[in-house]
Amino acid sequence: MKTQVLPITPESVALAARLLQQGELVALPTETVYGIAADARNGDAVKKIFEAKGRPQDNPLIVHICGMEMLNGIVSEVPERAKKLAAAFWPGPLTMVMPRGPEVSDVTCAGLDTVGVRMPSHPVVQQVIKASGVAFAAPSANLSGKPSPTNAPDTLADMDGRLPLILDGGESNVGVESTVVAVTGEHPMILRPGYVTKELMEAVLGEEVLVSPAILEKLKDGEVARSPGMKYKHYAPKAQVTILRGDFAKYKEFIKQHTEPGVWALCFDGEGAQLGVPFIEYGKNHDGVTQAHHLFTALRDLDKHGAQVVYARCPEQDGVSMAVYNRLFRAAAFRVVEL
Ligand code: AMP
Ligand code: MG
Repeated sequence: MKTQVLPITPESVALAARLLQQGELVALPTETVYGIAADARNGDAVKKIFEAKGRPQDNPLIVHICGMEMLNGIVSEVPERAKKLAAAFWPGPLTMVMPRGPEVSDVTCAGLDTVGVRMPSHPVVQQVIKASGVAFAAPSANLSGKPSPTNAPDTLADMDGRLPLILDGGESNVGVESTVVAVTGEHPMILRPGYVTKELMEAVLGEEVLVSPAILEKLKDGEVARSPGMKYKHYAPKAQVTILRGDFAKYKEFIKQHTEPGVWALCFDGEGAQLGVPFIEYGKNHDGVTQAHHLFTALRDLDKHGAQVVYARCPEQDGVSMAVYNRLFRAAAFRVVEL
């Protein structure tokens, strides 16, 4: 299959809409990362996403909509909490897990009785949903296990020959995938952290929002993840990544003892030149928003440079940094060294 990459024009949006209606795949930009879309109601179409990505069949997909009325048939009920969170954060990078409606394909939900739904704010996604009338399932546009792409060239690198069309809408702004929150149950629970933080949701809901233990710790053998995606390694470049937890002075000291060829530093802005090994900087210290924006491109760039061993500066664990830590922790296959 030949993969076309097209800029955003009325014609390319119309082509994307047509492909989706015909049960084909389209890769496109969202505000979080690039995604691969297919009609969420059409099981055969959604199966193609799993094939293109090499994604495990038990990992459910998020359904994307562009108006509250599209929830009809996608979910069986909109819980009160979901209404409050939607009013505050939709359109935006928040996915809510709700009771599943009759129209969503089993393949989309990986057989679960719940479905994750999000209303993205990116104008291209909104245009494509409006033009097609299709609520689409869309995971990140990477090969399963690799860092999510945040631009069209990285999407093409993974998806060339695997789908017919990539819409090129420039860089994704947020840089990490949406926050996933389960809104039913005694307490709301974050299943995957993102740009919409625990603190922001607690302010809107006026109640505690729990954080799934699988987010900041490795699951023990036999433990079940409520979000199936959380059990996988994920986001990993070819290099072996290790997170070094400690201040910059200790980090610098550690790197000084590890200057072998193939060693790279993944550090914060302004730090690299002091280290004596090749480096990539991924945002400002104490600033989860800039780190989120740069993390996945930084991980992909390490591969492009042939890095073999990567020592990463450790993000914080609150606010947007929780999302950065969560992704880096998986990219590091849960390896953290206390300095
Ligand atoms: P991705 O499609 O790569 O953005 O990943 C979607 C994430 O949302 C994965 O971690 C899934 O496990 C999670 N997810 C999607 N739908 C559900 C659901 N119904 N229940 C729990 N987690 C979900
Ligand atoms: Mg993904």
